[in-house]
Amino acid sequence: MSDSLLKSPVPRIINLGSGSKGNSSVICLGEKILMVDCGFNRKQTLLRMAEMGLNPDQVCGILVTHEHGDHMQGARLCSQKMDAPILATAGTISGGNMSALNHQILRRGEIIAHHGFEITTLKISHDTKEPCAFLVEAAGVRTLFATDVGTVEGLDLRPMKDLDYLYVESNHDEVMLRTGPYPAFLKNRIIGDGGHLNNHQSGLLIRSLAAQSPQLKSIMLAHLSHENNDPEKALVTTRECAGELPGVIWDVARQHEPREMAG
Ligand SMILES: [Zn+2]
Ligand SMILES: [Zn+2]
Repeated sequence: MSDSLLKSPVPRIINLGSGSKGNSSVICLGEKILMVDCGFNRKQTLLRMAEMGLNPDQVCGILVTHEHGDHMQGARLCSQKMDAPILATAGTISGGNMSALNHQILRRGEIIAHHGFEITTLKISHDTKEPCAFLVEAAGVRTLFATDVGTVEGLDLRPMKDLDYLYVESNHDEVMLRTGPYPAFLKNRIIGDGGHLNNHQSGLLIRSLAAQSPQLKSIMLAHLSHENNDPEKALVTTRECAGELPGVIWDVARQHEPREMAG
């Protein structure tokens, strides 16, 4: 093994919490931390980082997938206090009133390098101005962050290949949502092309992505609805739809508890 390989740090992928009340993850590589969404207020973000032994001074950028509060509630203050730029599409920057902040515009379909991370911005369908998913490569390890995916129809899966880690939305159980307490307009919004994936749709998406990712190590189901899903149900349905994936570790992100992706 060459010296550079021996010294090459292994990235850690940690979810700080996920659900309709806030979403945030980090990828740590050496002395650098890249944040993906900042949907908790600054105090909560710092508490959760401390719980996982993470130093906020090492944050070198905050990716924001779209301007809904559960993805950017803490982004403005964290960006200022951590002296880290916001990286997002032009639509998300304007939709989230972030143009006065230190920021970098990302274009969907493009790849950029940022402090040792390679970031691909990918188009998804959701009811915001210019939402996206992110594929982040760190020291050769590839992680896809895909939440708030309204529909898999028309989703370009081609760049979402050779994944090591898959962090993917599994928002609701179809029957729980249909028979649950939400008003009709909200149910329709969640089911619609600008809403969220159900467990079944998520499982089928995982199946397609796993088929083009032979080295896939770990899957974390994310953005579960508190009212219309539960972790066990999400795991059972998605695993059933995804089919046999030998050696792959499955887990479920929680709203109130940070978790590191295994693998
Ligand atoms: Zn959203
Ligand atoms: Zn969301």
